Amino acid sequence: MQMTPGPTAVPSRVRDRLSDPMPNPDVEQAFFDMYADVCSKLQRVYDTDDDVIVMGGEGILGLEAAIASTVAPGDDVLCISNGLYGDGFADFVENYGGEPTLIGADYTDSLDVDSVEAALDEGDYKVATMVHCETPTGTLNDIAPVLELLHDHDVLTVVDAVSSLGGTPVPSEHIDINLGASQKAFSSPPGLTTVAVSDRAWEVAEERDPNSLYTNLLPWRDTSEMFPYTHLVANVAALDESLSMLLEEGIDSVYERHETAAAHCRERGSALGLDLYPDVERSSPTVTAFHMPGEAKAVQQELEEDHDIVLSTGLADLADDILRVGHMGYNAKVEKVDHVMDALATVLES
Ligand SMILES: *Cc1c(COP(=O)(O)O)cnc(C)c1O
Repeated sequence: MQMTPGPTAVPSRVRDRLSDPMPNPDVEQAFFDMYADVCSKLQRVYDTDDDVIVMGGEGILGLEAAIASTVAPGDDVLCISNGLYGDGFADFVENYGGEPTLIGADYTDSLDVDSVEAALDEGDYKVATMVHCETPTGTLNDIAPVLELLHDHDVLTVVDAVSSLGGTPVPSEHIDINLGASQKAFSSPPGLTTVAVSDRAWEVAEERDPNSLYTNLLPWRDTSEMFPYTHLVANVAALDESLSMLLEEGIDSVYERHETAAAHCRERGSALGLDLYPDVERSSPTVTAFHMPGEAKAVQQELEEDHDIVLSTGLADLADDILRVGHMGYNAKVEKVDHVMDALATVLES
């Protein structure tokens, strides 16, 4: 059993879709219709009227494409971060010749709004980036106030909501480029990037006119006649099914199911004497990070070898300090959490 914070387990109904006949994505209208349907379902999940596009490529493609399509050499970009993915945006900005200003905070802290405000008073920033759910630490960031501030200063906003979209509400109001991926709370196989693009973001991209194909959002603006390259038809079909399941259940029920699973996971952890990283107020409904300094890897290994349960540890410096339970998408269920926590109790008591 796999309970990682992505890729998540893919339900059988979605896997079944992968064995259906596949329309040719270059020529058959059936594919164009399915793609349009997927995009409109995504608009409902994103809670937006902005265009939503689905690019063929794993989630990181969206992060890179957002920067490649908006940042020109010399552009000043504010990268607001309290985690690995947030820091990573500054690297993309540098790779594309931009000038990143990293407003970093400790991974246990909230986003540093005061420093953002000070930076906006002093500098002239074209784009700002941030992460809604920092999956490596299980932290859900309160991005709405930051977005509002950036909106007041006319800064284009790019948000990585890969591990929150479809699991918990994402405050979409002032987001210009909102990034998701198929393999997290959508419970689809890895392979697709989903991007909501505001009119303003399209304008900035048109002006930037990036000299690339794969990391360029523009060829996806109007795909009614053709796609920039052969689309990943199997992945699109799977995502279509995942989104149908999500919308049939009802988006509010889905969010509630995530809250319930997360709360249950934390209660069971607390009963085992486990601390959360960083704390309960900031923990995402999609993932629980238990703080186990120096123990996480050994516990992860024992869970897999003796109980056939696959969890994730922390990343980078926190690799051996955090054990992460993903309860996102199809895995956001109390009985699945119980199964994991029963095994974890056995491992910790042995
Ligand atoms: C999973 C994830 C991505 C997608 O990239 P990976 O290749 O799975 O690392 C991007 N951002 C966040 C916050 C994620 O959790």
